[in-house]
Amino acid sequence: MTEFKLAIVPVTVFQQNCSLLWDTAERGCVIVDPGGEPGRILDALGKMDLTPKVILLTHGHLDHAGGAKALKGELDAAMARRGEAPVPLLGPDARDTFLLDGIEESAKKFGFAGLRNVRPDRFLTEGEVIESGPFRFDVLHCPGHTPGHVVFVEKALRFAFVGDVLFKGSVGRTDFEYGDGAALIDSIQTKLLPLGDDIQFICGHGDSSSFGAERLSNPFLRG
Ligand SMILES: [Zn+2]
Repeated sequence: MTEFKLAIVPVTVFQQNCSLLWDTAERGCVIVDPGGEPGRILDALGKMDLTPKVILLTHGHLDHAGGAKALKGELDAAMARRGEAPVPLLGPDARDTFLLDGIEESAKKFGFAGLRNVRPDRFLTEGEVIESGPFRFDVLHCPGHTPGHVVFVEKALRFAFVGDVLFKGSVGRTDFEYGDGAALIDSIQTKLLPLGDDIQFICGHGDSSSFGAERLSNPFLRG
């Protein structure tokens, strides 16, 4: 079985959990939701001697995607110097395009500097499998928090990146004009929880948990 390690780099004032997942043999790294502060993410990669393989975005909110363009630029330049291919930027589902295109506008409202609009190399769709080194991520479209939110599930490792769909003791906000509370709960109940109680997840903010712990104790998933 793949030996893997995970590190969290909290980014932006929202303390968004940018995640680094790598296999200890090859040290190839999957980067999930680089929402900002690309310098801190680059530092972490360098300190741990990791080779970036792919950047994944769960959804288009600025604290998840706002650092992706700058990070990809820096990584691609470094890879080119080593004669290696650019690092693909994948996801979310195309229904979040309007959010990715509006990052600079909403960053202005929050008074943030440095966050950039971004388009991925490729949008993702439900049912795709993303392979990176020994990792295999199933892509699940889980709308509600945003229309194009996706979740990445590594079934063999019993592990998922759920972005802002599900939190320890809570669920994602749906009070945006494009939010859909019923769709969010339906995504969790019909797509995530059936994958198994033992699946551990990293969410966009705060502590990690498991689908089983949330199925039993999350007040938003009762009744
Ligand atoms: Zn969000």
